[in-house]
Amino acid sequence: MDIASAGYISTRGGIEPIGFSDAVMTGLAPDGGLLLPEKIPDVQQELEEWRALSYPKLAEKVIQKFIGDELRPHTLRNLIQNSYARFDAEEVVPITEADDVYIAELFHGPTMAFKDLALQFLGNLFEYLLEQREDHLNVIGATSGDTGSAAIQGIRGKDNMNVFILFPEGRISKVQERQMTSVRDGNVHAVGVEGTFDDTQRLLKELFSDLDFKEQYRLGAVNSVNWARIVAQIVYYFYSAFRVQDKNGKSPVQVVVPTGNFGNIFAGYLAHRMGAPIDRLILATNENNILKRFFQEGIYKKGRVTPTLSPSMDIQVASNFERYLYYRCGEDAAQVQQLMEDFRRNGRIQLSGEDPLFASGTATREDTLRIMHRFYDEHHTLVDPHTAVGLSVAEQNRDPHLPTVCLATAHPAKFPEAVKLALGTAEPAKHPGLDTIHEAPARHAVIAPEKSAVADYIRSAVEH
Ligand SMILES: *Cc1c(COP(=O)(O)O)cnc(C)c1O
Repeated sequence: MDIASAGYISTRGGIEPIGFSDAVMTGLAPDGGLLLPEKIPDVQQELEEWRALSYPKLAEKVIQKFIGDELRPHTLRNLIQNSYARFDAEEVVPITEADDVYIAELFHGPTMAFKDLALQFLGNLFEYLLEQREDHLNVIGATSGDTGSAAIQGIRGKDNMNVFILFPEGRISKVQERQMTSVRDGNVHAVGVEGTFDDTQRLLKELFSDLDFKEQYRLGAVNSVNWARIVAQIVYYFYSAFRVQDKNGKSPVQVVVPTGNFGNIFAGYLAHRMGAPIDRLILATNENNILKRFFQEGIYKKGRVTPTLSPSMDIQVASNFERYLYYRCGEDAAQVQQLMEDFRRNGRIQLSGEDPLFASGTATREDTLRIMHRFYDEHHTLVDPHTAVGLSVAEQNRDPHLPTVCLATAHPAKFPEAVKLALGTAEPAKHPGLDTIHEAPARHAVIAPEKSAVADYIRSAVEH
């Protein structure tokens, strides 16, 4: 039963199916597409059993569905136990309630953003697979702020791995930068790129498309192009929906997702397809609302990146969108290939029809600050600016029949500047894990936004 879901294909149709471990190690498919399972598992028969499980136990069940027989159950169990052991909340993902919205707190991992839920697991998985294969890996990632430190915390100090993180120089928050540049392990490299986040993602794609370089330097991916990240994120959609149903009866839920790269919400899409009690996904964006325009008008058109208070969502080209496109095109890889080629050439894709599963909305800077202020004032709940974007869009999309879950994607202490703007003081934005971050010595390189500059940097670091 699980075996059937263990083959992975490319959204562009250019590869023979590969297994789960190869999919994780490869990152991006060699034809430039993204990897997807041949078949989405249907778990409706198992919902009642899953409902009672703790977060790590549920994670075992969900992730096992996508692995087939490649990892033994006790191996997977150990990887998962280790991945969530460093979280500072017993439940891993606590669910609170304020203003008639359930808030799923995804920020209890070591770097205080939802990325930890997948990257702690991916770091452990890489370590295990490399040991099995007697291989090594140079993991590369691009970050709009939070992926970088989460990847670094997932990989630092591990054998057989280096991690290189490209971030847009000067465009992430001070805390986010420090969370990367103050890590001292020798296998960690934080690299500022003189450009935007979209530049760093483009550089990554260019490096991975250079198959000789990729092979010679054993490149691995930590961005949400890596299938393991999506898989690990599916878990909290089931978990949150179950917890809300515990409190609210058996009605299905709608989930609001602060969105940038479409990685988080794509996991929600898969959870829905698997049979999770989720009837609607609400895509929340800041002013960089290319995805909202797609879901409302059918046009996916690249614009300029506007810096906002929610920098981890300052994205115009969402790498995981291609995975969704594959399903929207009726699993027609040739059509996806054509659309991506059109997009590369014209910066624009147009699609007819709509998907009733999705709603969407935008929160402006004013909306974001107003929500942060109001939740603090009225509910004694301090939320970070990304979560505030979600809560603002939740406000625009109330449904009397569907309880609303908003994913809280980061801890407010990561964004003291935004907290200060909203409340007049950054004082409440505290987290013991960040107390010493500004004193710690820091280092990072700065390079031009060119593939050759990144390649040179990696070469010299590895050969050093
Ligand atoms: C990464 C991130 C997002 C966006 O998630 P995507 O998977 O890129 O859509 C939202 N909020 C925070 C705090 C993040 O770190």
